[in-house]
Amino acid sequence: MSSTVGRARTGRPEPVALRRRASGPVPGEVQVMPTDQPPEGAATSDARPRLSFAVPPARGKAPRHLADLDLAGRKAALAEVSLPAFRADQLSRHYFTRFTRDAAEMTDLPASVREQLAAELLPELITEVRTMRADGGRTLKHLWELHDGVRVESVLMRYKDRTTLCVSSQAGCGMACPFCATGQMGLTRNLTTAEIVEQVRHAARVCADGAPADGPARLSNVVFMGMGEPMINYRNVVAALHRLIDPSPEGFGLSARGITVSTVGLVPLIRKLAGEGMPVTLAVSLHAPDDELRDALIPVNSKWRVGELLDAAHDYFRATGRRVSIEYALIKDMNDHAWRAQMLADELNRRGRGWAHVNPIPLNPTPGSIWTCSEPSVQDLFVGTLRRAGITTTVRDTRGSDIDGACGQLAAEVLKQERIRS
Ligand code: SAH
Repeated sequence: MSSTVGRARTGRPEPVALRRRASGPVPGEVQVMPTDQPPEGAATSDARPRLSFAVPPARGKAPRHLADLDLAGRKAALAEVSLPAFRADQLSRHYFTRFTRDAAEMTDLPASVREQLAAELLPELITEVRTMRADGGRTLKHLWELHDGVRVESVLMRYKDRTTLCVSSQAGCGMACPFCATGQMGLTRNLTTAEIVEQVRHAARVCADGAPADGPARLSNVVFMGMGEPMINYRNVVAALHRLIDPSPEGFGLSARGITVSTVGLVPLIRKLAGEGMPVTLAVSLHAPDDELRDALIPVNSKWRVGELLDAAHDYFRATGRRVSIEYALIKDMNDHAWRAQMLADELNRRGRGWAHVNPIPLNPTPGSIWTCSEPSVQDLFVGTLRRAGITTTVRDTRGSDIDGACGQLAAEVLKQERIRS
């Protein structure tokens, strides 16, 4: 190991000459590349991740649902079956403020209409396959089956000051990031707006009913960090954002600042989202500040480079005033070197101060793979390097990792168990 790293590890300030050298690879330092082994879950040893932007067509359409439509659309849908428009407001209020789709609970509506209204606009879209609890009941992980048998996950996490739901926006994912369980499944299909919103409605209800530990809570945050790449399902995701943010009876009326859309970095769509007038938080899954490594870690980097991506993220901050989150899964000897932390800090600071914060995420590893989380001392050095450079840095807690909490892992595990059983 070189003296540069040795010195930095002691926490003593590095001499300027050495700090300058730390902006690139250090001779002799271990560098594991993502291409050193097939991706997570690959069936053959020569498998390589395959990036795909093509969205397979849905196998049969999901039934029409209130949350697919804006209020005018709901009124029009009821008019088609000769129901008065004001019933759309009533039904919407039940759905968005009492979080119910059960006609029996809508006692202020005449019994004769409630069943018909619910049948027209509130079909069952997501069915619970399995729920797992972790962290003393503060984390609930749901596996859902959709109308066509496709499965997706959502995770509800209760914290002291907030309750956050992590939603899926696609079944599977076409982005093929080799360290991500969902990335190896390929893309099955986009979720409809209502399939996304239903995950939120269910979580809001579960919180109100006090299912997570510590009694009733209010769902305050929604993060698009479950299965899928939200930008590939742009139209449905933006419509879902409207249902989340718009006040009742249009939507739930959640604060936009509590909502985060996480992306691998589809630059044109980041720019489009900036123009939607919804100041949601943007999270960029960067994972490497240099194109050489990021090309292998995030295949879409071959299309939009780190520099372009950070420019778009910075413009997003300027357009919305929302500080951007830079996601960085720390993978042992792959992307966790101190010089990469310095390079990341330099790239961020070059574009301005205080516009981004970094979220290092300890990798959720699979036994026996080269994808392993960093040593604690290496993680500390990485975080310290960023902080010393003036970058706000918060290590993400690893909620639910004992229930396959990381994206796609529960769905993959349940599928494996069912294959073994059959
Ligand atoms: N496609 C979007 C959102 C889904 S993934 C995106 O990539 O941003 C949400 C976050 O979890 C991403 O930052 C992703 O890189 C990260 N992630 C995926 N697999 C992981 C793992 N095994 N350990 C830690 N983080 C992981």
